Amino acid sequence: MKNKILVTGGAGYIGTHTCIALHEAGYEIVVYDNLSNSSREAINRVSTLIGQPIEFIEGDIRDAESLKQVFLSHHFFGVIHFAGLKAVGESVAKPLMYYNNNVSGTITLLEIMAKFNVKNLVFSSSATVYGDPESLPIDENSPRSCTNPYGQSKLTVEHILEDLAVSDDSWNLIPLRYFNPVGAHPSGQIGEDPNDIPNNLMPYISQVAVGKLAKLNIFGNDYQTIDGTGVRDFIHVTDLAQGHVAALNYLERQVAPVGFLPINLGTGKGTSVLELVTAFSKVSGQPIPYQFADRRAGDIASCYASADKAKNLLEWQAKLSITEMCQDSWRWQSMNPNGYTVT
Ligand code: NAD
Ligand code: UDP
Repeated sequence: MKNKILVTGGAGYIGTHTCIALHEAGYEIVVYDNLSNSSREAINRVSTLIGQPIEFIEGDIRDAESLKQVFLSHHFFGVIHFAGLKAVGESVAKPLMYYNNNVSGTITLLEIMAKFNVKNLVFSSSATVYGDPESLPIDENSPRSCTNPYGQSKLTVEHILEDLAVSDDSWNLIPLRYFNPVGAHPSGQIGEDPNDIPNNLMPYISQVAVGKLAKLNIFGNDYQTIDGTGVRDFIHVTDLAQGHVAALNYLERQVAPVGFLPINLGTGKGTSVLELVTAFSKVSGQPIPYQFADRRAGDIASCYASADKAKNLLEWQAKLSITEMCQDSWRWQSMNPNGYTVT
C-alpha cells in the first residue's frame, strides 16, 4: 500500500474521478467534503466503482477543529485540495462567500498541515489566473491577472502558497492550473452534476442534446478565431485525474523540496465552441440547436496551454480526444438525466 492522501472536495466532479485514479495507483485516500456542491450518492458510486467503501468525512475546510481531528487520526503523505466554490457569476454576486470559502478555507487547511508537518500540497488552480493571455500557448511564466472574485480567490491562494514557500523551504506546493475539464468516467456512473442551469459549455450542450434545454446560446461569433467562436483547451477529466497522480508520484520521487511549482494541465490544443458542438452532435446522434448571442462579459477569444512542463517534470500527457470527451459526457448525461438525483 502506498502513501495516504487527504482529498478535500473529493466528492465533487474532479475529486471523484481523481479518487478513482488514486485508488487504482495504489494510494490510500480519505475524502473530506462538506457536500455543499456534491452528494453522498457520488461517494457511493465511487465506492462501487473501486469495489470497497471509501473513507469519507463530512466536514468543512474552514473548521479547524474538525480538520485537526482528521489529521490526528491519520498519517498523511499529502493533501490534494479541490474544496472550493467555482461559479464565476455567483462569485461576482457573493464575493465574501467566495473569499471566505476559497481563501480563508485554504489558510485554515495550511495551518493544520503545518501543525502536523504535512508539507505536500496539490492545489486546484485554474487557467483563469492567466486572464486575457498576451501570447499562446500559455506557459506557466505568463503574467497573471484576474477580473472576477472566483479568479482572484485562486490567484490569492497562489500568492499565499508562494509566500509560504519563501518563508519555509520544506514545503512542496503544486498548483495545477486546469484548462477546461470536460467528460466523465467511462462507466457513465460519475460525472459533472451542475445544480442549476449550467454555466459551462459542455454540460449545457449535453442538456440540449438530452432535451432538457431547448437551445444553446453561443456567446460571440466575431472573435479572431478559426470560426469566430471562442477557443478553449478542453481536457478529459480522467486525464486531469491522472495529472494529480503524476504530481504525487513526482513529489514522492523528489529528494529535495520543490517549493512553489505551478504546472498547467491541458492538452495543448484549442477547440472552438462550434467545433465542440459539431463533435458532440456527431457522437450523440442528436441535433444541438444553437443561436449566436452577444459575447459573455469577461470572456476571452482563445485560451490553450503549453503542456510541456507537465510532460517534462510529471511525465504526464493528456491522451483522450475531443471525440472521447463527447462520448463520455454523453454517456453520463444520457444514463443520468437528473445527475445524482434519483427521482
Ligand atoms: P465541484 O464543485 O464539483 O467540487 C468541489 C467540492 O468541494 C464539492 O464536492 C464541494 O461540496 C466541496 N466544497 C466546497 N467548499 C467546501 C468547504 N468549505 N469545505 C469542504 N468541502 C467543500 O468542483 P470541481 O469542478 O470538481 O472543481 C474542483 C476544484 O477545481 C475547485 O477548487 C475548482 O475551483 C477547481 N477548478 C475547476 C474547474 C472546472 O472547470 N471544473 C476549472 C479550474 C479549476
Ligand atoms: N459558451 C457558450 N455558451 C454557453 C457556455 C459557454 O458559447 O452556454 C462559450 C464561452 O463563451 C467560452 C466557451 O464556451 O467561449 C467555454 O466556456 P465555459 O464557461 O465552459 O468555460 P470558460 O473557458 O469560460 O471557463
